[in-house]
Amino acid sequence: MPTQTTTPTQYEMVVGLEVHAQLKTASKIFCGCSTKFGAAPNTQTCPICLGMPGVLPVLNRRVLEMAVKTGLALHCQISPYSRFSRKNYFYPDLPKGYQISQYELPLCEHGYLEVALPAGQAGVNGQIKRIGIHRAHMEEDAGKNLHEGLEAASHVDLNRAGVPLLEIVSEPDIRSVDEAVAYLKTLRDILVYLDVCDGNMEEGSLRCEPNLSLRPVGQKEFGTRVELKNINSFRFVQKAMEYELRRQEKVLREGGRIVQETRLWNTEKEITVVMRGKEEAHDYRYFPEPDLVPLIIPQELIEEVRKTLPELPDSKRERFVREYGIPVYDAEVLTTSKDLAHYFEACVEVYPQPKTVSNWIMTELLRELKNSGQEIADGPIPPDRLAGLLKMIDNGTISGKIAKTVFEEMYRTGRPPEEIVKERGLVQISDEGAIETLIDEVLQAHPDERESYRQGKSQLLGFFVGQVMKRSQGKANPGKVNELLKRKLGET
Ligand SMILES: [Zn+2]
Repeated sequence: MPTQTTTPTQYEMVVGLEVHAQLKTASKIFCGCSTKFGAAPNTQTCPICLGMPGVLPVLNRRVLEMAVKTGLALHCQISPYSRFSRKNYFYPDLPKGYQISQYELPLCEHGYLEVALPAGQAGVNGQIKRIGIHRAHMEEDAGKNLHEGLEAASHVDLNRAGVPLLEIVSEPDIRSVDEAVAYLKTLRDILVYLDVCDGNMEEGSLRCEPNLSLRPVGQKEFGTRVELKNINSFRFVQKAMEYELRRQEKVLREGGRIVQETRLWNTEKEITVVMRGKEEAHDYRYFPEPDLVPLIIPQELIEEVRKTLPELPDSKRERFVREYGIPVYDAEVLTTSKDLAHYFEACVEVYPQPKTVSNWIMTELLRELKNSGQEIADGPIPPDRLAGLLKMIDNGTISGKIAKTVFEEMYRTGRPPEEIVKERGLVQISDEGAIETLIDEVLQAHPDERESYRQGKSQLLGFFVGQVMKRSQGKANPGKVNELLKRKLGET
């Protein structure tokens, strides 16, 4: 009998992401009700968003403008003719029995997003991958079912019904969990930069539903896909996809079949569970919305919106490297948010040493922000104050080490650096006489080390410098200490 060697099948994952972004309008998509998050249940409703019979929806112009703006930033074609449709389904949070969405004629199509893949992947740092955007369309959100409290009852809150959403559907171009997370983060950055969405996943302003399937490497056809829901953080996206990847691979290796379905991410058990069999589009019986006229988008409107596009993260990154001569890594960190990028530029304007500013922001400032849970927009240290601190290092008033202590206090108290330095007597000791006194004390206290130094153990210089600095409580000018120590030790 011929021996047969079988190599285990390698699987490749194929992922497409559906993202629902809540557009940052003050009022809902088809009525004047407020979209503010966190109000008492059902206080932000009217006959239109409650779905009463006989009411007529009217499109909020701001929704259209924001959708066009996003479409342009995602390199989409903006359809000159577009239409709303009814997506029919029954659910308690949808009183009218259909959601107004777009189906066969979406507003935006055929775009793309470029993402920088994480370092290490494919052995390349900062490799750029282009992920296609299949479509982006406007729709209304549904309400929310609340299963809270001690009573054995569920409640429906319709404050969210009619809140505008932009559904952004990627092409199935994503091939790894890392790519999916990078795509999502990049997309969120863009939406926040555009000021069309606050990007808050926890509050549901950005929701992500991965479609995920596996296929043997080399196979052209896609495998059966599973849709994941109920994911409200980047970490959960990663965990849910990793779990699902393992689950599907196990099923396939055991000769099983993947069932097309929608699965929920269970954050406590860290597993995905079946929610329902996946519907196909025809299950929704889409038909054109008769209460809204078709949308005709004049080219002038598109051009008008195009003029309002801000500099997006990728171009800002390139400009930072070019204009300020900082490393790509610094530019990437500094452009993660519009506010941080703005802060950096404001600092450089008053203190034109970009790399020094970048270092202080990336280490000291970001650490304090993280520890205190604050945002840069909360303004804990205004740019001119940071610049003031850096100037005090430059002119020798304080040492770099003391500056870090001053920085922490500035952050904690909101006071200017000059005041803190003066009050706490942190001014650097540059006076040669004073430093010499400290050096004499140190040398007297360490006769053995002094002797070893004299016999050629020159690395002990660092030890003496450290001792002098300690004695001065970090206030001695390190350059001067070095210089004077060498002179003194040389004398003997
Ligand atoms: Zn309303």
